[in-house]
Amino acid sequence: MAETGSGAAATDGRRALVIGAGIVGTCSALYLQREGFRVTLVDRDGPGEGCSSGNAANIGLGTYPPAGILAKVPGMLMDPRHPLFIRWPDLPGLVPWFARYALASAPRRRTAVAQAIDDLHRDVIAAYDTLFAETGTEALVVKRGMVFTYESRRSFEADTANRENYRRRGLVLTELDRDEVHQMEPDLGPAVECGVHLDGTEHTVDPLRLTRAFAESFQRRGGTILRETVRDLETGADGPPRVVTDAATHAPDLIVLAAGAWSGRLAARLGSRVPLAAERGYHVMLPDPGVSLSRPIRLSDRYVVVTPMEHGLRLTGIAEFSGLDKPSNDARADLVLRQAQAVIPGIRTEGMTRWMGHRPSTPDSIPVIGRSPRHPSVLFAFGHSHSGLSQAAVTGRLIGELAAGRPTSIDLAPFRPERF
Ligand SMILES: Cc1cc2nc3c(=O)[nH]c(=O)nc-3n(C[C@H](O)[C@H](O)[C@H](O)COP(=O)(O)OP(=O)(O)OC[C@H]3O[C@@H](n4cnc5c(N)ncnc54)[C@H](O)[C@@H]3O)c2cc1C
Repeated sequence: MAETGSGAAATDGRRALVIGAGIVGTCSALYLQREGFRVTLVDRDGPGEGCSSGNAANIGLGTYPPAGILAKVPGMLMDPRHPLFIRWPDLPGLVPWFARYALASAPRRRTAVAQAIDDLHRDVIAAYDTLFAETGTEALVVKRGMVFTYESRRSFEADTANRENYRRRGLVLTELDRDEVHQMEPDLGPAVECGVHLDGTEHTVDPLRLTRAFAESFQRRGGTILRETVRDLETGADGPPRVVTDAATHAPDLIVLAAGAWSGRLAARLGSRVPLAAERGYHVMLPDPGVSLSRPIRLSDRYVVVTPMEHGLRLTGIAEFSGLDKPSNDARADLVLRQAQAVIPGIRTEGMTRWMGHRPSTPDSIPVIGRSPRHPSVLFAFGHSHSGLSQAAVTGRLIGELAAGRPTSIDLAPFRPERF
């Protein structure tokens, strides 16, 4: 396995500093190295320990803003089984975000949003394949697609537009009747009426291990990882901004802001007001689940994804809007578990652990990828909402292209920070 950068650009020794060693920052760091930058990756924690550690591990799906969402929100909030949670005192502060969300899901805007997401997803797998091959991490990825289950023909029909989106993007969808879906996944319970197999997505057996493996490869190629907390971005009259941490002040040639849900505060220091919500999601990890699934399953009626991983079965779900600082709420994780048990009755819970993480969610589901409007030596790479694991490698590739000053492989206009 070659450990030297194999990118097209010549090494020019310029120094880049990436804030945030989640999957997005780590992939960006690897692609910057390929472009010949001397890269430092800064995180207050270890690589991958933020939202990137606990996700459902699927690569390639990518979500679209749901149609007609606004009318459904009150019903969702009143239904105790629904995964959307907002604390009433937080509601006034969230109104502008939800207003933009509703706008993005309106028919005309929705088409443009879906187009941007499709463009980004065209090379999601190819951009990862480059990194898997260069870092020797192919064994951490399983290419078996995923299954959506439905508990009635009605819920199957209700999801038609969503499936069409995935078809349009090039995923191959095979409808499965009751017998077929149970043959494919025998541990699904009788509640499952039918399903769909999606070919073209993949999953990692452990997203934390994957990010760590990328980070180790980055270091072996000469990259530096610093465990520091970024406190501020100092902007002077001229020159690039400086990164002030709890340990030092850094003055790189280029900064990439990839701090996940925490990026909004730092972007604001550069004059960019990006409406970024910390959308909390939960998982339950079952080390000895007593059931066996061959691939990730989206339990469509339950808003839960179940993923077989190297250390057990992971059940994920919930969209809870309660900010960055409040403690985790175990009842949410337990709801995910109950929902999964209703569809996969044999699940055992011995040794289970719970986790909560903050999705960096933009109101139009499109990540922010582009240059800071006021500080061109700062690149933004955050806001990947529900699809950051999927979109991380292709984002890293785009960051590399921007940093090298090359034309980007897709039109980044829909991703620019100043769209809000
Ligand atoms: C339950 C759940 C299921 C999901 N399932 C999927 C899925 O199946 N597929 C998919 O594609 N996506 C999924 N996602 C979304 C995905 O996990 C996120 O979009 C992605 O992890 C975001 O990555 P990130 O690198 O931007 O953020 P993070 O992983 O949160 O990384 C940000 C990093 O920045 C660091 N940081 C922040 N502020 C500072 C600071 N001031 N100084 C230093 N460091 C700082 C943090 O410590 C952190 O390590 C899921 C999310 C959840 C919650």
